[in-house]
Amino acid sequence: MPATPLTGDLGATYARVGAALDLFLTEDRPDPVTRRAGWTSALEQPLPEHGVGSDATMAELLDVVVPNGTRVSDPGFWGWIVTGPSTVPAAAAAAALIAAPHRYSITASNLVEDLSLRWLAELCGLGAHMRGVYSSGGSTANLVALGAARQWAFEQRGRDVARDGVDGTPLALYASAEVHHTIQRSAGVLGIGRAQVRMVPVDADLRMRPDALEELIARDVADGVVPVAVIGTAGTTNTGAIDPLRAVGEIAHRHGAWFHVDGAYGLPGSLDERVRPLYDGLELADSAIVDPHKWLGVPVGTGATFVRDRELLRRAFTQEPADYLAPQESSDADAQTSLDAMGVPYADLGVELTAPARGVAVWAVLRELGREGVAARIRQDDDFARRVADEVRAHPRLELLTEPTLSIVCFRYAPGHGVDDDELDALNAELVHRLHISTPYVPSTTRVRGVLAIRPCFVNSRTTDEALDGFTDTVVAFGDALIAARP
Ligand SMILES: *Cc1c(COP(=O)(O)O)cnc(C)c1O
Repeated sequence: MPATPLTGDLGATYARVGAALDLFLTEDRPDPVTRRAGWTSALEQPLPEHGVGSDATMAELLDVVVPNGTRVSDPGFWGWIVTGPSTVPAAAAAAALIAAPHRYSITASNLVEDLSLRWLAELCGLGAHMRGVYSSGGSTANLVALGAARQWAFEQRGRDVARDGVDGTPLALYASAEVHHTIQRSAGVLGIGRAQVRMVPVDADLRMRPDALEELIARDVADGVVPVAVIGTAGTTNTGAIDPLRAVGEIAHRHGAWFHVDGAYGLPGSLDERVRPLYDGLELADSAIVDPHKWLGVPVGTGATFVRDRELLRRAFTQEPADYLAPQESSDADAQTSLDAMGVPYADLGVELTAPARGVAVWAVLRELGREGVAARIRQDDDFARRVADEVRAHPRLELLTEPTLSIVCFRYAPGHGVDDDELDALNAELVHRLHISTPYVPSTTRVRGVLAIRPCFVNSRTTDEALDGFTDTVVAFGDALIAARP
C-alpha cells in the first residue's frame, strides 16, 4: 500500500517542529559536540521501497535529525560568519515555502522581493539608485555582480560577451590580499581566470593600499591587459577590515574599471555610527553585495547583488526565450489574474530561474526590527568584539592581533617567553579545538599577518553579554594548561 503523503495539518505539524526546535536551542548538552548515540545508523537507511508514512518520518525528523544538528544558533557560537535565523524571519521563510514558493507573478512575494531589496539598499547606505536581485549567498551574489562588470567591460569595446563569449583579450580583477576566495572562483567561472585576480598588498590595518593598486593597474594597462573591475571589501571575512573605498573607487574609475564592493558580511556595519565614516566612498560603487543570511539573521541561502543599472544585469544573464514562460516582463498590477503577468523578471537578472521568494524573510526581519532595531543589534555585536579586545589587552598572556573594526576580533594566547610563532600556532590551534569540544565557546581560527589567531565573529542574535562571560579567562586557563603539559 502506498503511503499517503501528509498535505494538510500544517498547524499541528509546525507546532511539533517548533517545540522540538525550542528544545534543541535550550536543552543542556552534556558537552557541545556530543551527538546522541546511534544517530548515524538511525539515518543511514536504504532507499525505502515503501514509505514509512508521515508519523514515522516526523518522529525521525524531530528525534534524530533536529537534536543532531549543528550548534550554529547557540549563544556561544561565533565561528565563521554563519548564524541561525531569529524566529520571525525563520517563520516567514517557512510560510513562504507554502504561500509563496517562488518569486514570480503579480503576488505579494514578487512585490515583497522588490520592496525588501529597496529597503535593504537604503538600510545599507547604497542609495535608491541601486537596484537588486537575490541569490543563494555571497558566492553567487559576487558572481552576478562581476558578470555585470564583465558585460560592461566588453560593451565598452563593442562586444556582447554574454552572447558571443570572451575573445582573447587578457583581463584582470584587483582585490586586496584579504579578499574572499569567491572572487577568484567568479573570475574562473566568468572566463577571466582565477590567476588574473591581482592581489593588492594591504597596510598595517589589513586594508588595501591604494598606491599599490594604482601601480598594479598601470603595469597591466602598459602590458595591454584590460582592468575589468576593482573589488573593495567592506568588512573582510578574516578581520572585518574595510578597504579605503573612496580612494579605491576613484582609482578604478580613473582607469575605466568597474568598482565592486563586497559587503557580504560588513555592509550593514555602516549602521554603527562609530564606524560609518569608514564607508565613505560607497556611493562610487557600480555594484555591491550583502548577505542578509549573515548579519541580518535571515535563513541561510540569501544573498543580494545591487547594481546601478539592472538592464545591464539583464543583458549579462538573459536566457533564450522559453515558450512555457510567456507572458514575460509585464508588471501590470491590473492584469486579469496574478498569472497574466510575471512581475519583475528576476530570472533574467541572475543565474537562477526557479528560486525561493527570499525577500519574504528579509522583509519580515526589517519590518520586525526597523532600521533602529537592526542598528542596535549591529552596535551590540561590535560592542562584544570591543569587550573581548579590552579583556585581551588587560591580560599579560593574551595578545591582540587586530583591533576590531566591526564585530570580529583576532587575538591569541601568547605567554611571552621562549615560545616561537610556530609553537604558538600549534598551541592556539589545539586550544581552539579544546574550546570546541569542551566549552560553550565556539570561535573559529584564521591567520593574521601569518600567525594563527583565535577569531570570534559576533553576528548571532542569540548571543548575550552573559554568553561572553568567562571566554577569555577560559582561553588563558587552557593556554596555561597546554604550556604546563609541554614536554
Ligand atoms: C561570506 C562571504 C562571502 C561568501 O558568501 P557566502 O554567502 O558564504 O557564499 C563573500 N565575501 C565575503 C566578504 C564574505 O564574508
